[in-house]
Amino acid sequence: MKKSVLLLLLFTCGVAKSQDTTRLSLLFLGDIMQHDSQIADAYDPVNKRFDYKPCFQYVKPFTESVDLAIGNLELTLAGPPHKGYPQFSAPDELLVALKDMGMDVLVTANNHCVDRGRRGLERTIEMLDSFDILHTGTFADEVEQLNLSPLLVEKNGFRLVLLNYTYGTNGLPVYKPNIVNMIDTAQIRSDLIRAKGMNPDAVIVFTHWGSEYQSLPSAWQKEVTRICFKHGAQLIIGAHPHVIQPMEWYREHNRLIAYSLGNFVSGQRKRYTDGGAMIRVELEKVKTADTVTTRIDSAAYILQWVYRDEAKNYYVMPVPVLEGKTHQYLSGDAAFTAYSTFVEDSRALLNKHNRDIPEIRTLPELNFEMDQNTSDTLGVRKIIQDQSNLRQLRDSPPGNRRGTFNLPMPAKASVVLDSSEIQKNDTVPRPKKRD
Ligand SMILES: [Zn+2]
Repeated sequence: MKKSVLLLLLFTCGVAKSQDTTRLSLLFLGDIMQHDSQIADAYDPVNKRFDYKPCFQYVKPFTESVDLAIGNLELTLAGPPHKGYPQFSAPDELLVALKDMGMDVLVTANNHCVDRGRRGLERTIEMLDSFDILHTGTFADEVEQLNLSPLLVEKNGFRLVLLNYTYGTNGLPVYKPNIVNMIDTAQIRSDLIRAKGMNPDAVIVFTHWGSEYQSLPSAWQKEVTRICFKHGAQLIIGAHPHVIQPMEWYREHNRLIAYSLGNFVSGQRKRYTDGGAMIRVELEKVKTADTVTTRIDSAAYILQWVYRDEAKNYYVMPVPVLEGKTHQYLSGDAAFTAYSTFVEDSRALLNKHNRDIPEIRTLPELNFEMDQNTSDTLGVRKIIQDQSNLRQLRDSPPGNRRGTFNLPMPAKASVVLDSSEIQKNDTVPRPKKRD
């Protein structure tokens, strides 16, 4: 008996040694929008510039603590005049803030991508390139489409292949030679075949689709989902309805679908539209002498509500930060009511319809330290400063141990945090009113 246990142990150790397991954490965000009210909030009339960083200060630890943060950029960066709905052109400083909070990839095929014609589409791409943010979905021309669709993203030894499509462009023309990837199931099929040939660990399809303000997916969304899965997608992340729709994880088939993550940030204040969900997915890759297997290892969502305070400043507030501490952050009865309604509505929907994807409600304590080797944060800041007219961005000296801090998931990899304000207090500070 003892002998067999010993043999088993030896065998198990042998297997463990020959295996190489790596992980990759992903965070997907919903619609990044920019209405007139947000532009007004971001504008600092004294210094005559825009600053969006305060808006994202509370969500930044969540986006920075993953290997890849990916969102839907539902606007153009077409330059002035800056305008919100119906034909968006956001100030470039929005991109500064998105880069600063750790966004790695932004997908651009949506119904607003040609709001400002050819120049708007191309300038948006140029801006993303200049900030070193990966993108796919819209292309200046055919050559760019060939290079960037499917988009290969390599990180931590993982090869992800990304595809992005939209149902349409609000009836606005796409001027030659620009290309916008449209939801065309024949095209999707052939792209997925190409994707498979790129030897990916996972294929992720971003779909801009569905009916606005509908909390459940349409038959068409389900049909496109079926086709994407059938032809090799592992993850499908949907956008456009401006409200949250359910998420499903089919563990046995290694497939995950989030029909709509709602609004990550927008000026929309109506019920269901004033927030969204971020979905955090971890991939696990196991290499043995003979095989390499990558699978979705965990999936959970984090609700985030967009708070507009009494001075009309906007903040994306992750619910785990607010939960049980609303009085520290929110003021005014209307804000409490709207926040509670959003959380109740979202939980009611997702508790009922989600498959195997729970909510992250609290912030488990983590020990972490700054790690110079895992971050190019300082380099990124240099680029941002050089390419924008913003004042010097705050940063923390690398190498300082920061002690415990609350983050959404018990990450195994090193975590980089560089909001000095947050680090000082070990708790997230209350939004400050700006003049
Ligand atoms: Zn849309």
